[in-house]
Amino acid sequence: MMKIRRMLPFISLCILLVVCTGCANIKGAGQENDGKASSGETGESLEQSTVGVQEKDVSAAGVGSQDGSVSQAGDRSGGRQEGNEAEKEQAATEGQGSVGQDGENAAAEPKETETTEKMGEKLAAENAETGTESPNNVSGADELAGMEFTDIEPMMVYTTANVNVRFAPSTKAEILYKVSRGTIYEKNGEGDGWSRISIEGENYYIKSDYLREKKAPGEGGGHLIAIDAGHQSKANTDKEPLGPGSSEMKMKVSGGTRGTTTGLYEYELALAVSQKLKAELESRGYEVYMVRESHDVDISNSQRAQMAYDSGAEIFVRIHANGSENSAANGAMTICPTAQNPYVSGLYADSRRLSDKVLDGLTASAGCKKERVWETDTMSGINWSMIPVTIVEMGYMTNPEEDTKLSDDGYQQLIAIGIADGIDSYFATP
Ligand SMILES: [Zn+2]
Repeated sequence: MMKIRRMLPFISLCILLVVCTGCANIKGAGQENDGKASSGETGESLEQSTVGVQEKDVSAAGVGSQDGSVSQAGDRSGGRQEGNEAEKEQAATEGQGSVGQDGENAAAEPKETETTEKMGEKLAAENAETGTESPNNVSGADELAGMEFTDIEPMMVYTTANVNVRFAPSTKAEILYKVSRGTIYEKNGEGDGWSRISIEGENYYIKSDYLREKKAPGEGGGHLIAIDAGHQSKANTDKEPLGPGSSEMKMKVSGGTRGTTTGLYEYELALAVSQKLKAELESRGYEVYMVRESHDVDISNSQRAQMAYDSGAEIFVRIHANGSENSAANGAMTICPTAQNPYVSGLYADSRRLSDKVLDGLTASAGCKKERVWETDTMSGINWSMIPVTIVEMGYMTNPEEDTKLSDDGYQQLIAIGIADGIDSYFATP
């Protein structure tokens, strides 16, 4: 049933890549930048000319449960491929598609599957490997009955990978269902490496390794917005997965473009507008989380998405400027995932709506040309997001007129006001 959904992203990716060589010109002229002024305006330029998202990557995608709501009982399957009897026993595979400790690597995933009958036999050996569970309890019975849990003040947590929710705190306990990365629960107890969570008044268990505290949004009363000023003073050309569980790698953070007339760097412009947007939003009663407030940082695109989520923000707004070989190109666009995105399709509707609202607000306020909302699954900072996300391409720094305007404080303020108008509109019409 998932096959068609899985294939669609590859088809759209292929189409996109034809028009997006080096991501130098997302208007689709298919030409490389000249390299003087623009080195990938979206900050997530696809460096590779060949892209093959493999089917197995898609299986790790958490789909449809990233709505930020408390999960209810029911099918919260994360789209796993294996049959019902299949079981992952090792701690390393209890969760899949996890953001690693450093926010980088998705866990590799052994392919073995086992029947329930075999699990007990292998448990001791696997316990020894993982060191996370009772080492001499082959039957598991004591473990199921005897683990002591400390009651804690109930707190909201979210899953950092596609994980199993179990009836008891053991990897051999029956699975209620699997849930996607980014699913939110109330945690009320802590045991030996296991967390006790409540679903509709019943207690279930998830390995603590795959849970993190979810901050309440807008603790000060207003909506909390995460702003990512694109890029940084130095690109980081190391690679990171394109999305959770993906084997396709992409540059952590690219250098961005540069004003052909003003010489202004995209990372400078992005932060200047981001700071104005922060002030504007705060003046309207919003709370703002800034991914970066200086140029001298080294934060990959996936880390930025993780930071935005960990902040408790409800939406993620990424500020960028565009570049093109065609110096006549001008205008603003916003970017969101496609409805078939293998990682965050559950975020599509809200991300598209956010992108539409922000583009409308920006172009109305700044008076610039409205290009389009570009739907693409090639942006790691989108694919790793767990909240509705948009990339704002404010204008072309390769267009002399627009570059000059973009460098102007007053024009930057108009852009900030326009983006804030779009955010107002997003929250006003759910
Ligand atoms: Zn950029």
